[in-house]
Amino acid sequence: MIVKEKEPEKSCDIVNEMKLSKRLQTVAEYIPSDAAVADIGSDHAYLPCYAVLNKLASRAIAGEITDGPYLSAKQQVEKLNLSAQISVRKGDGLSVIEKGEADAITIAGMGGALIAHILESGKTKLTGRERLILQPNIHAVHIREWLYREGFELIDEVILEEDGKCYEILVAEAGDPNAPYQHMTMAAGMLAGPFLLKEKNEVFIKKWSQELKHTEHIYEQISSAAKDGQSHEKLAELKERIALLKEVIGHA
Ligand code: SAM
Repeated sequence: MIVKEKEPEKSCDIVNEMKLSKRLQTVAEYIPSDAAVADIGSDHAYLPCYAVLNKLASRAIAGEITDGPYLSAKQQVEKLNLSAQISVRKGDGLSVIEKGEADAITIAGMGGALIAHILESGKTKLTGRERLILQPNIHAVHIREWLYREGFELIDEVILEEDGKCYEILVAEAGDPNAPYQHMTMAAGMLAGPFLLKEKNEVFIKKWSQELKHTEHIYEQISSAAKDGQSHEKLAELKERIALLKEVIGHA
């Protein structure tokens, strides 16, 4: 019996087949040309595969802490014949890279606190020459605070909506952490993002208007249920938050 060998997929077919979410595509566009990129928490390794296939990166590392996603990443890289360019590694955060091995680090699709934690616990792996491209699903403020403390300068930010969800992308390099926060209060800049605050696009206004409405609702509920001074501190905290949200939206 003659078994016909399966024809290898042509790279142009693969590039066409690899449709990435708008969210990850935007992250990939910030990879500096010809960079080696480390994608931490890579899951199916879609981002590094897309970046290498589209020549946005010359080579990549896909890091994963969990068995299932690690195996999915390995299978995806093998399926696309990219094992020579993409190394799939299992481990916690930046522990999978050697110092100086990556020119860019992407961490996407997690909460801001987890991304900040990954950066903090792996900071001895950073040379200060890497570009960090970070995409938190929520609580980007934790990342901005970490970048500021560690001497990274935000060089750009994007806010976008996809499938009814709102995503932020933060791009940073070592530099002057104060530079983007001119002409705004630090609290507003940290919460909402200095670039996003200046641009105030439709998605931004929608996100923070919803947050304001939600916070005002909580304030009213606590306020009407409060019989004594017990809730005083909580109400004062919420009032302060409402004032900050109004400042962010521009209705202060
Ligand atoms: N980056 C992909 C994206 O944006 O679509 C996948 C996001 S997925 C929701 C988060 C992934 O991060 C999971 O596969 C999880 O196993 C991985 N992860 C969580 N904590 C991690 C850590 N400390 N180090 C490496 N990977 C981690």
